[in-house]
Amino acid sequence: KDIVGTTRGMAHESQTAREELQSMRERASATEAQLLKLHQELDRVSSQARHDPLTGALNRKGLEEALAREVARAAHLKSALSIAFIDIDNFKSINDAHGHSFGDDALSHLAQVAREAMRPQDTLARFGGEEFVIVMPETDMAVATIVAERLRRRIASEPFAIAQGAKHLDVTISIGLATLDTADDNAATILKRADQALYRAKRDGRNRVVADAA
Ligand code: GH3
Ligand code: MG
Ligand code: MG
Repeated sequence: KDIVGTTRGMAHESQTAREELQSMRERASATEAQLLKLHQELDRVSSQARHDPLTGALNRKGLEEALAREVARAAHLKSALSIAFIDIDNFKSINDAHGHSFGDDALSHLAQVAREAMRPQDTLARFGGEEFVIVMPETDMAVATIVAERLRRRIASEPFAIAQGAKHLDVTISIGLATLDTADDNAATILKRADQALYRAKRDGRNRVVADAA
């Protein structure tokens, strides 16, 4: 009688334990699903914080992170790194003549063409206003010049259609190039040299690519 009683008790206990285990499993998988949703939400918000909504390019914050990472990587691997500082020519008068929304379309167009001219390892960022930066890892000045010239030529040679395609407008860009050179070169100094080269491109007549003299 004792043995039968004990066996029944054990059967009951193991049934209870099975039910508890099942309920724990259900709770764990609900928590897992919730965690996955939170991770996805975090990815989305974090990506949003680093991108420019108009052009889909990295924004200033995204650029700072990407450039710091590439500068460190290039220094570590002793590999080349070049950047292109791009600015739309006479953008203020384009905006004034055709409206701000046309100006926005021109910015999106430039970002699109830039992506097509870039290689897979390159990164496009909107520095601000009508200024963009392309970060080009493992790229020396000679190759950077080819990429920048290809982009400049495509922008200059394909007149940009004004709304409804009724009219076309010539949009041009100027580009300043700089390459990581010394050991104490950093994200700020390379950006500064590219910006100085861009300034010379503007001064020399716009619609051109100028390489940093260093
Ligand atoms: P430059 O050839 O010397 O570069 O002349 P610019 O007129 O392009 O240069 P400037 O810096 O004087 O003007 C930049 C203009 O860009 C001012 C502003 O009207 C326009 N702009 C800046 N951000 C935006 C934007 O997000 N959308 C539009 N549509 N225009 C913008
Ligand atoms: Mg500008
Ligand atoms: Mg400009």
